[in-house]
Amino acid sequence: MIRMEDITFTYARRPIFEGFSWQVARGEVWAVLGPSGCGKSTLLLLLAGLVAPQTGKIEIQGEMLDRPRPQTSLVLQEYGLLPWATLRENVALGLRIRRFYGPDGRHAPQDLRLDANDIAMRTENWLRRLDIYGLADYRPSQVSGGQRQRAAIARALVLQPDLLLMDEPFAALDAPTREDLQALTLALCSEAGLTVVLVTHTLEEAAFVGQRILILDAPPNHVPHSLANPHTADAAYRRSAAYYAQVTKLRGRLEGA
Ligand code: ADP
Ligand code: MG
Repeated sequence: MIRMEDITFTYARRPIFEGFSWQVARGEVWAVLGPSGCGKSTLLLLLAGLVAPQTGKIEIQGEMLDRPRPQTSLVLQEYGLLPWATLRENVALGLRIRRFYGPDGRHAPQDLRLDANDIAMRTENWLRRLDIYGLADYRPSQVSGGQRQRAAIARALVLQPDLLLMDEPFAALDAPTREDLQALTLALCSEAGLTVVLVTHTLEEAAFVGQRILILDAPPNHVPHSLANPHTADAAYRRSAAYYAQVTKLRGRLEGA
């Protein structure tokens, strides 16, 4: 699904990735873990095609990534909802844009366009899946942080992506809300067979969410240190000895790194 080959990425003079290679198979759920400033958000911007590496290449589904692709959805750290629009309008936003510009950002042939009714139905479906249908006519400032994050996730999933990139999506939420949304997001992604790259700075989140965990360190990052985490997303896992062992192992890896 994703192949990063020997990439180098530098902001001004500061190299963040140097000769870095990493692969993600289709349908895998990866957590990317590391301290603040290690390059987690930069990795997502690279995968989203919003910044380009100075050397090396990135391929997604066998195609060279040279601009943002329509099948990739990105959920940003601060939700990125339009404050003046209702949750319904926020969720429908991407579909509306596609209706005018086509799925590839270019003018779409007539048969690729969704009509207003298709957009309304798909939007309603995802509002319901994220359990915010009853709040559809509220604006983001009128609902809780968890509900805003649900709207941001609905907006990403309504576009039927094959790759979902999330930047610390649950960081601002209280623990029970965060745990609910982690589990719901994983269930929806697994149902749709999505490939997921989720950035987090918390060990516990990485250990619950990631089937595989990529550990980044103080930049520049050269080698992708990764860890298998096969029992994720099972509700009982969070209470299991295996989960605590994994969190402890990650703590050791981060502190020893
Ligand atoms: P993380 O998401 O892991 O906290 P980032 O990927 O945002 O880290 O940033 C990695 C490093 O690059 C940090 O030291 C940050 O200050 C620096 N950085 C991020 N964005 C820019 C930018 N636009 N220009 C210059 N430096 C940047
Ligand atoms: Mg970041």
